[in-house]
Parts: sequence; C-alpha cells; structure tokens
Amino acid sequence: TELWQQVPLEPPDNIFELTAAYKVDPFAKKVNLGVGAYRDDDNKPWVLPVVRKATARLLNDDTLDHEYLPILGLPEYTTAAAKLILGSESPAISEGRAVSVQTISGTGANHLGALFLSRFYGFNGPAKVYLSNPTWVNHHAIFRNVGIEPVDYAYYDPKTIGLDFTGFLDALRKAPDRSVFLLHACAHNPTGVDPTPKQWDAIGDVILEKKLFAFFDCAYQGFASGDMDLDAWAVRRFVDRGVPLLVCQSFAKNAGLYGERVGALHVVLSDKKTADWARSQLSVLQRSEIGNPPSHGARLVSLILNDPELFTEWKRDIETMAGRIIDMRKELYQLLTEVYKTPGKWDHILNQIGMFSFTGLNGEQCRAMVEWAHIYMAGNGRISMAGLNSHSVEYVAESLDKVVR
Ligand code: PMP
Repeated sequence: TELWQQVPLEPPDNIFELTAAYKVDPFAKKVNLGVGAYRDDDNKPWVLPVVRKATARLLNDDTLDHEYLPILGLPEYTTAAAKLILGSESPAISEGRAVSVQTISGTGANHLGALFLSRFYGFNGPAKVYLSNPTWVNHHAIFRNVGIEPVDYAYYDPKTIGLDFTGFLDALRKAPDRSVFLLHACAHNPTGVDPTPKQWDAIGDVILEKKLFAFFDCAYQGFASGDMDLDAWAVRRFVDRGVPLLVCQSFAKNAGLYGERVGALHVVLSDKKTADWARSQLSVLQRSEIGNPPSHGARLVSLILNDPELFTEWKRDIETMAGRIIDMRKELYQLLTEVYKTPGKWDHILNQIGMFSFTGLNGEQCRAMVEWAHIYMAGNGRISMAGLNSHSVEYVAESLDKVVR
C-alpha cells in the first residue's frame, strides 16, 4: 500500500449520490429529477421499438461475426452518422473534407477531439479551450486530461434565466485569434438555454472574423425539437459559412443506447488533402486509445440509419420522447402559472430546450425540495424533464410552489 500513499480520496459525484439517496428513500411520492436519461410516463427506461426491431435483425443475421472493426469504425455507420449530423447534401462530405471516426459515445468523441487538438491544433499561445459557464461538468476533466486548460465564457444569465448573449459575444471578441470555443449544438446541458438562429449567426460572424475554432458537442440531436434536421441547424450553418469545426456526436440519448457507447467524431477541414492527413493521425490516436471500436451498437445504428423504413420509425420514436418532454414543460408551466399562481416568472420552463431545465431555484430552495419534498434535484437548480410524468408533475408543481413562497 505504501506505493499508493499519494492517491487522495475523491468525494463522490453529486448526481450519483442524489440517485443513491433517492433509491433508499421510502417516501411514496418521491421523484428523481436528477437523472440524465429518458424515462417513459411510468418512470421506466425506454427501449426504443425501432431498436428492438433492429436488435432482432442482428440476432438473426448469421453472416455476422466478432472480428475486429476497422480502427476508424464501421464504415457504413460512420458514413451514415456524418450525413445525419452534417446533412446528406453537405459540401464537406461531397468534397471529401470531413473525417469521421467511430468513438466511445459522446464522451469518447469529446476526448478524441480534444486529444487531436492537443497534438495538432495551431493554438495561439498556451492550449486553452473556452467552455460555457456552466457546462456539462465532464468537459473540464476531458480537456485537462490532454493538457488543454479550460477557461469559462459567459453563457447563462441568472437574472433572466436565459442566455447572456452580450457576455457571450464579448468573450468571443476578447479571446485571442484562433481560440477554441466549445459550443453545445442544441439542448444545452445543464441550462436548456440555446441561442436563436439569429444569435447563432451573430456568433458565427465573430467566429469567422477572429478565426476561432468551433468545437461542437452534439449529444441531443432530435431531443431538442423532435426534428433531427432542426437540431443540426447550427452545425450545418457553420459548415456552410466555412467555420473551421469539429462535431462530437452521441446516440446515447436519441437512440436510448446509453450503455452501448455509440458515438462519432467528425472533423471538417478546408480541403481533401488536409482531411486525408488528419484521418491518418486520428487512426494513430484511436489505435493507442481504444484499438478497434466496439461493433454491436454501431451495427444497430447503422441498420437504423441505412434502412429507410427503420429510419422513419426511429424519427417517430424520437418524436415520442421529445414530445413527452415538451408536454411536461407545458404541464408544469400551466400548473405553476394558472393553478398555483406561483410567484415569479416561469416562461423559461416553456422556452428552455431539451432534457434539462434550469429552474432558477437557489441552493436553499433546492435543498428544501430534496429534504422536505423528497424531490431529488441538483443544487444548481437543474431538473431533468424526463423525471417528470403524468403521475409526478402535480406533486412537483405543488412542492415548487411551496418552496418558492
Ligand atoms: N456531452 C454532453 C453535453 C452531455 O450531456 C453528455 C451526456 N451527459 C455527453 C456529452 C456524453 O454522453 P455519452 O458519452 O453517454 O454519449
């Protein structure tokens, strides 16, 4: 043991602790609003019907084996995944200047993208990445792991419970040329606050002017609006405008494949030659990191993306999930504003996008929700809309009302 005396004990992660406390709580009306995964109206994990169908096809396909996939992943998968996010008519794809790599879900895509930047990006000074304040907590660790220092940029304004657009633009303008900005493509985690198309265009103007690099994280395509194309709008717009960028893609949420770890990294370069060189280096990095990527999840998603019938079914399943979440927003909003007439403005519940919502509750109110109402939520006021359902929404609204009064 004396070899490991330098290892300090790390305190447990808040969200995991919250879930553990929820599980042992005997209170009948307890609610878990901390979960980062979709739940159906009965608070159960949902295996998408299209995934069940595709799984059955894979199981019955006796031509499949367990050989290694190519280092960069299953080609039918990465090609279809690129079209899904960049658009099937994307000039980046037709001009051969997009490089796509199969990754260990969105986390692996962020890691490989960060690692690639740390090795090859022309940083202007020390390697830094600008992260929205707040952002998905893991972003900090992922960039630190590869020696890129995270720096905050203004994003969320607690006064308006919305976007600090002026602060955001200011940060873009003040950053050194060629700085890397991490952008959530849609359904910002944890705030649920996204820029409007007009705001995206203004952000794009500064990015182009200052030759900044856009590191897009897209973990929720389809989850924001229910429409895959609409949720990819900002990424496609930036590609069209010639913004240098990469995109991290995950099928955890939109296909409910959390544990299968299906993702991709897409790097869009200026020409085919640069793309070929980048591809060769990404292969080297991938090999030393994970070797060959796993096959099952990639085969599943490949089947769904490449079979028009399954693809249509998938889009319906996504609408089911996104629709339920949007309905919960409406119901919670209505209960607060019309039934309980809760003090304060609650428009943000309706306007925020995706699985998460920043309620605007302060730390003390959050603690009261947990300790007094048995409604488990993060101390920053974030709730997961997926934790709400027709059985729990009234109790949540009633408790919110009591806690803020
Ligand atoms: N990025 C963001 C913003 C996320 O919210 C998540 C999931 N919590 C991920 C990436 C990665 O998720 P996964 O590795 O499961 O795809």
